[in-house]
Amino acid sequence: MMPIERAEKVHWDLETDVVVVGAGGCGMVAALAAAQAGAQVLLVEKTARISGSTSLSTSMIPAAGTRFQKQAGIDDTPEIMAQDILTKNKHTSDEAMTRCLCAQSAELVEWLGDYAGIKLHLPTDFLYSGHTRHRMHTTDHRTGAELVEQLTAAVRRTPGIELVFNAPIRSLVADESGGVEGVVVETEQLERVKARKTILATSGFGANKEMVARYCPDIAGALYFGGEGNTGEGILLGLEMGAAVENMEAYQGHGSVAFPHGMLVTWVVLVNGGFMVNKEGRRFGDEMLGYSGFAVYVNRQTDSVGFDIYDERIHKSVMPFADYQDCINAQAMKHADTMEGLADALHLPAAALCKTLEDYHVAVDRGRDEFGRMELARLTPPYYGIQVTGALFHTQGGLKVDARARVLRPDGSAIPNLYAGGGTAVGVSGRGANGYLAGNGLLAALVLGKLAGDDAGRACKNQM
Ligand SMILES: Cc1cc2nc3c(=O)[nH]c(=O)nc-3n(C[C@H](O)[C@H](O)[C@H](O)COP(=O)(O)OP(=O)(O)OC[C@H]3O[C@@H](n4cnc5c(N)ncnc54)[C@H](O)[C@@H]3O)c2cc1C
Repeated sequence: MMPIERAEKVHWDLETDVVVVGAGGCGMVAALAAAQAGAQVLLVEKTARISGSTSLSTSMIPAAGTRFQKQAGIDDTPEIMAQDILTKNKHTSDEAMTRCLCAQSAELVEWLGDYAGIKLHLPTDFLYSGHTRHRMHTTDHRTGAELVEQLTAAVRRTPGIELVFNAPIRSLVADESGGVEGVVVETEQLERVKARKTILATSGFGANKEMVARYCPDIAGALYFGGEGNTGEGILLGLEMGAAVENMEAYQGHGSVAFPHGMLVTWVVLVNGGFMVNKEGRRFGDEMLGYSGFAVYVNRQTDSVGFDIYDERIHKSVMPFADYQDCINAQAMKHADTMEGLADALHLPAAALCKTLEDYHVAVDRGRDEFGRMELARLTPPYYGIQVTGALFHTQGGLKVDARARVLRPDGSAIPNLYAGGGTAVGVSGRGANGYLAGNGLLAALVLGKLAGDDAGRACKNQM
């Protein structure tokens, strides 16, 4: 990265209304919204193709009060959704921002369908722990790849947007008042792009080992499973401009990545009644803590692995997840008619695993297990299992923004012309890993992207 440049000393190579940095979910939504408002948009992406965390996600987009929910007879409100998020993070996220994202979520999801042409539906076959309503909206095969493919198609057919790959941002250009006048982008050479508004959508710093070790030491050294380009430049540049950051220790972990195969095993296998054991065949915690907080528990076990244990009913329930199909194809998933057989297939001590199942069933009858888990279900043969490890998916701390996604200084004033969203902005997951409620990532990415694009686009239109 280069130091911030001074506008008065810069020779501009290009000029546009809005420059959006990073073509992930946040950046593409921001670009679409700004263009819809009438702005010319330059969308610059560091990598050669769209490969950020959005593309790797399960594309579960939470929203409350949507027409999809109404059609399914689900009564949900932004207030209930905000309460779920705040309960999960023990009220350690900014409450006003949390309520703001929830209030905007239904409009976002409907706009994604109506304006951007994203094909979404509302699965009602599972409920992530912590969600009191079915509110996850997703693509046909529940993959981020589908989501970014459809977003990219929308970006490409929108005349006001130019998308450039292999174009990392290297610095910002500041004016005398401390506002942003443009960006320095590296293509074949360094180019200075003058822009009325700049939106930082470069995600978090999960791929930056140094920053992870500094801010999130409990997950440092774990497998990183997010976008390769997410090395924190947006946050670092914001800091250089004098922005405030918050909750830098917050992150989204995941306790169930198939190991060594490296594909996501949906937490729904546990939510629907499965449990996890270690190499000794014993359970080690309440899986309903959620996939994020559980990652460090898994990595504290022998060889940093755990084993999802479940049955045929659960296996069938997760078949709609494309990632799960990948696990089957990679032969990461083992199954057997008996628990002894499954232990054998997973190289686990059979006696210990059978005793764990027995204890689990006692807990099912009692309605509560030794860890306080109450969402329990009797497992019946044939049994299934997958070896997994804990991973870092995405960091959740970042630049402080307001309800228009404008980047704020520590005194609460907005840095002129600068916006941030997604992993670049502080999310609504509080601190550490336990505060992450499923869906918080795309909620912050897509809603803040929309808010930033709307505001930046409108402001440019008004200046014309
Ligand atoms: C496996 C996995 C599953 C997940 N599942 C879900 C889910 O189902 N629901 C949910 O809510 N959340 C989920 N998340 C989290 C969610 O994916 C992220 O919170 C969200 O995608 C972040 O969006 P973003 O646009 O900020 O980042 P990204 O999608 O990562 O986009 C950032 C883009 O910026 C680019 N970039 C970085 N630096 C620069 C630079 N200097 N110059 C130019 N470009 C740059 C990157 O290359 C990247 O393309 C998941 C995450 C992972 C890893």
